[in-house]
Amino acid sequence: MRLTGVRRFHWARDVEEALSLLDAYHGRGALLAGGVDLGRSARTDLEGLIDIMGIGLSYVREEDGRLRIGTTTTLTEILEHPAARRYLHGALVEVLCRVAVPPLRNMATLGGAVVSAHPWADIPTALVALGAEARWEGEREEHALVEELYRQPFRAVFRRAVLTEIALPPWNGAFAFEKLSRSAGDIALLNAACGVGIQDGKIAWARVAVGATPARAERLTWLEEALQGEAPSDTLWRQVQEEVERRAKVGDDRRASAAWRRSVAGVVVRRAVARAAERAAR
Ligand SMILES: Cc1cc2nc3c(=O)[nH]c(=O)nc-3n(C[C@H](O)[C@H](O)[C@H](O)COP(=O)(O)OP(=O)(O)OC[C@H]3O[C@@H](n4cnc5c(N)ncnc54)[C@H](O)[C@@H]3O)c2cc1C
Repeated sequence: MRLTGVRRFHWARDVEEALSLLDAYHGRGALLAGGVDLGRSARTDLEGLIDIMGIGLSYVREEDGRLRIGTTTTLTEILEHPAARRYLHGALVEVLCRVAVPPLRNMATLGGAVVSAHPWADIPTALVALGAEARWEGEREEHALVEELYRQPFRAVFRRAVLTEIALPPWNGAFAFEKLSRSAGDIALLNAACGVGIQDGKIAWARVAVGATPARAERLTWLEEALQGEAPSDTLWRQVQEEVERRAKVGDDRRASAAWRRSVAGVVVRRAVARAAERAAR
C-alpha cells in the first residue's frame, strides 16, 4: 500500500451518502471500490476514503437485450454471472479472463476499471468497441458512451460523481478480443477488440478498437467503413493487416517501441476481425 495520509474511512450506504461525503471533503476525499488502483496511488492529499462496495451497485441484469452491470460488480462476479457469460457468445468472458490474475479480479470492479482507464488496459478497449454506455450521478444523472466519456476530462468528473452503471447494447453479430503481453497475467503491449455482423455473406457492420498503443483505445473508423459490404476472405484479412500496419497510430513507451507496435498491430487486428467474422457467420 502506497497511499498515505488518510485519516478517516467511511462506509457509504447509498449513492446519495457517497456523494454528500465526497462533497464534504472538498476534493480531499475519494471513492474506494476494490482498492486495486487507489491502494497503490501515490496521492498524499487524501484525508478520507469512502467505501462504495455496499451502495447497491453490485449487479448484472439483462433488460431489453441490453446487459446492465452495476459498477461495484467485481470482474470475477461478472465472469461468473450467467447473463454476462451469455452476452454476445462470451465476448465479456474472453476479455475479462485476460485481465490480470484471479486474486486481482476478485477485488477489481468494473467501475474502477472505467474510471482508472489505464491506457494499457483491456477493459476500456472492449467497452469502446462494444459501444458501452456509462451512467453516473453527480449534481444530476448523466450518461454517455464510454468512448465519448474518454474524450472529456473524465477523472475530474468522477472526483464529484459516482459512476453507477455500464450498459452494453445487443449486437446482431459477434466480437473477438486479442491481447499481446509478455506473460499471461501481464498488462497489454497492444490489444484490440473487434465486432462484425454478417448479412448475405457480406460484412454488414464492423467495430474495431485498438488500445495500449500506448494510448487508450480508439476506434479505427476508417477500417470499419472499409470493411462494410466486403465478403470475408483471406485476401481481405491480408489487406486489413497491411492497411492497419500502414495507418495505425502507435508510439513508444518503456514497454515497447513504436516500430514493434507497428509491426504487430496489423496482425492483432487481422486476427480479431477474422475471428469475429468467423463467429458471426456461424
Ligand atoms: C497489477 C494490476 C494489473 C492489472 N492488469 C490489468 C489488465 O491486464 N487488464 C486491464 O484491463 N486492467 C488491468 N488492471 C486494471 C484494473 O482492472 C483496475 O485497476 C481495477 O479494475 C480498478 O478497480 P478497483 O475497484 O480496484 O478501483 P479502485 O482502486 O477502488 O478505484 C480506482 C479509481 O476509480 C475511482 N472509482 C472507483 N469506482 C468508482 C465509481 N463507481 N465511481 C466513481 N469513481 C470510482 C476511485 O476513486 C479511484 O480513483 C490491472 C491493475 C493492476 C493493479
